[in-house]
Amino acid sequence: MGTEFLKIREVAEVEKILHDLFQMLYSAKKVENVPLDEAGTRVLAEDTFASIDLPPFNRASRDGYAVKAQDTFAATDEKPVILDLLETVEAGTVPKKKVITGQCTEISTGAPLPDGADGLVMVEFTEKIDGKIHIYKRVHHGEFIAHKGTDIGKGDLLLPKGSVLSPDKIGVLSAMGLSEVAVIAKPHVAVISTGNELIESHDELKYGKIYDVNSQSIQSAVKSCGAVPVFGGIVKDNYDNLKTAIENGLQNADMVITSGGTSAGVGDVLRNVLDDMGEVLVHGISIKPGKPTLVANVQDKLVVGLPGYPVAALTIFQVFIEPLLRKMGGSEASLENATMQLPLAERFYSSKGRMQYALVKIIEGQAHAILKDSGAITALAEADGYIKVPKNVEIVQEGSTVEVTLFNRN
Ligand code: AMP
Ligand code: MG
Repeated sequence: MGTEFLKIREVAEVEKILHDLFQMLYSAKKVENVPLDEAGTRVLAEDTFASIDLPPFNRASRDGYAVKAQDTFAATDEKPVILDLLETVEAGTVPKKKVITGQCTEISTGAPLPDGADGLVMVEFTEKIDGKIHIYKRVHHGEFIAHKGTDIGKGDLLLPKGSVLSPDKIGVLSAMGLSEVAVIAKPHVAVISTGNELIESHDELKYGKIYDVNSQSIQSAVKSCGAVPVFGGIVKDNYDNLKTAIENGLQNADMVITSGGTSAGVGDVLRNVLDDMGEVLVHGISIKPGKPTLVANVQDKLVVGLPGYPVAALTIFQVFIEPLLRKMGGSEASLENATMQLPLAERFYSSKGRMQYALVKIIEGQAHAILKDSGAITALAEADGYIKVPKNVEIVQEGSTVEVTLFNRN
């Protein structure tokens, strides 16, 4: 027989233990440089300052003629002002001549403004007749000129640390000529399945065996938190194998998540392994599904033993691990899952004495509890979210309003 459960802990207690452990083990964030074209959705690791002025020079913001604004003050629809054309400046080229009174320079959007000019007349309000430029509208000083440094000045804060690099922010960094950016490193999470009955997808399904679900579902959940799963294999219920797999996981990742073998039954060796390798902080949570869950600190890394039942494993991951993993990756913003207040479609019987996370499906504005046990992986696929039924509540009445926490399925 395995070791007895430690004291069964309340959900809030476990949240606190995990939170404190994360603070202690993972508050120093690792940083990595990534090419800009791979930086989308990543979290900026440091305050980033503008290395150049933007725009880098005074430039035309319309196609037209660069002028001395004062020269145009008398221009009207009926009586144009007539200016001499000095030269043509296209985007990417530079003006050679200074504009003085009575002159103008033809200019394209994005081209540098010639010296002497202080306004731009849009081409729509001009006419070229016999090589002269007729101006039919007056312009103000500075009109249609984007002045150097008005977008952002060199040395100004461009993006603060913690910014999530959305396409617009990638654009801002590109404008600085950056090709790489320092972002918070994605946490690496080793994922291990345990159980003599588990086989891989390419194996033949023999009597008594089942295909491994958790390594795929948990790895996918890890990815959806912005972390990197590292598959640590399917391990037999055997002390040495499990210990070796966890040791490897600790070497290759920032934390280790196993599933299965967490109870105190025959073949459940995880508790013994963790006792020998480090310190078990939680064994048993007052929650349904997912009571036989283990939390340990091994070599200053978190090891979580999820229960084997796929629904229980994912529920525990989503309730306890996901928020911390997202935070570890730096994205504080997406900590909270969205919730909805909905009427419960049918009366629901809960198990007394444990906080229950009951899966629900939303149909026509009502929450329907999914009444399958935690061995039924299809229950999760059907569910839109869950309701929390406190441990002292046995019956939730039909029609009563429940808070549905929606799964993050992006
Ligand atoms: P355990 O927590 O090891 O006692 O397993 C509880 C139940 O979950 C058993 O029916 C196992 O066969 C099943 N189980 C454990 N691990 C997995 C897995 N990775 N994929 C699918 N089912 C599993
Ligand atoms: Mg097992």
